[in-house]
Amino acid sequence: MNTYYIIFMKIKAEYIWIDGQTPTAKLRSKTKIIEQGTEPPIWGFDGSSTQQATGDQSDCVLKPVAQFPDPIRGGDNILVMCEVMNVDMTPHASNTRAALVESASNFSEFEPWFGMEQEYTFYEQSYDSLKYGQPLGFPPSGYPAPQGGYYCGVGADEVYGREISEAHATACIEAGLGISGTNAEVMPGQWEFQIGPVGAPDIGDQIWVARWLLYRIAEDWNISATLDPKPVKGDWNGAGMHTNFSTKQMREDGGYDAIVAGCEALGKNADLHVKNYGANIEDRLTGDHETQSFDTFSYGVSDRGASIRIPWQVEVDKKGYLEDRRPNANGDPYVIAMLMIDTVCSAASS
Ligand code: ADP
Ligand code: MN
Ligand code: MN
Ligand code: MN
Repeated sequence: MNTYYIIFMKIKAEYIWIDGQTPTAKLRSKTKIIEQGTEPPIWGFDGSSTQQATGDQSDCVLKPVAQFPDPIRGGDNILVMCEVMNVDMTPHASNTRAALVESASNFSEFEPWFGMEQEYTFYEQSYDSLKYGQPLGFPPSGYPAPQGGYYCGVGADEVYGREISEAHATACIEAGLGISGTNAEVMPGQWEFQIGPVGAPDIGDQIWVARWLLYRIAEDWNISATLDPKPVKGDWNGAGMHTNFSTKQMREDGGYDAIVAGCEALGKNADLHVKNYGANIEDRLTGDHETQSFDTFSYGVSDRGASIRIPWQVEVDKKGYLEDRRPNANGDPYVIAMLMIDTVCSAASS
C-alpha cells in the first residue's frame, strides 16, 4: 500500500517592528516559518525585552501592515513590516504609525506625497583597535582631509563603503520600495538614499524597511550604519532626513501659492516640529553646515541654510513641492509625515 504525503511549501517571513527604546526607537525582527501563499498572521513577542512591557505582562502583538519580497533570502521569502498592538488590539504607546494613518485619512483629499532623503554613517565593527570606533574612511585616530571633496566623489581616496550602498539600493529595488537615488555625502563614510515620492503611511513603512535592509546588508561586511545626527563633532556635516512634501494642489499649475502657504504654516508650528524631528536635533541644527539654527525658522528659494527650501525648479515651474531640511537622520518618518500633513493640510482647510 502506498502512503501519500501532501507537501506544503514553507517560506521564511521576517517580521520587522519598532521597539520602545527612548529617545530613539530601534528596529527588531524575527523569523516566522509560514506556508507559501498564506497571509502572514498576527504574531507576538516578549515586550519586556524591547522596553515595551513589564515582565509580568510581557506579551505584545505584532500586526502585519505591509509586506515585501525579501531580497536578502530571495525566493518566495518575504519581509513583513508590523505595527505593535496591545493584547486588546489597541495601538501600543510606542506605535506612531496609527496616528499617521489617522492624519492621512483625515486629509486624504490632499493626496500628500513624501520624498525622504535618509542620510547615515558607516562604522567599522572590527575588534582591530586600528579600525574600531571611527567612521569608515577616517584614519585610526584623528581626522581625514577636511570635507569638500567627498560629496558625490569618486575614487578610493574619497569614497568609503560604496559596495554596501550599491547592494542596499539593489535590495530596495528588489523589495519593491520606491527608492529614487543614492549619493555619497559631505563627510567621509556618510551616505544618503532617497525614498519617494510615496504617499502616507507607505513612506514610513518604506523608510523603516529600507533602514532594516541597510543594517542587515552592512552586517555581512562587519560594518554598522548609524543614524546619529552628529556623528563627528566640529567641522563635519551632521546627518539629516530632508523631507520633501507636496499636496495635489501644490503639484497642479499655479501651486506655488499653496507651497508658500505651507511654508508659512510650518513657520507657525516650528517648535512642535523641531521637538519631534529626532533626538539631539540641537547638535545638528547649528546654523552651519547647510542648516538653519534649531531656534530660528526661515524659508527661501534654493536656500540650503533655511529651515525650508523651495527648489529653484519649483520657483520656475510655479508648482511642485517644498523641502523641510530640519528632520534628523534619526527621526521617525511616521511622526514627521503625521506632523507635516496635520500642519500644512489643516492650514489649507481653514
Ligand atoms: P536634494 O537636491 O535635496 O539632495 P534629492 O534628489 O536627494 O534632493 O531628493 C528629493 C526627493 O524628493 C526625491 O526622493 C524625490 O522623489 C522627491 N520628490 C520629487 N518630487 C516630489 C513631490 N512633488 N512631492 C514630494 N516629494 C517629491
Ligand atoms: Mn539629497
Ligand atoms: Mn544629503
Ligand atoms: Mn535635500
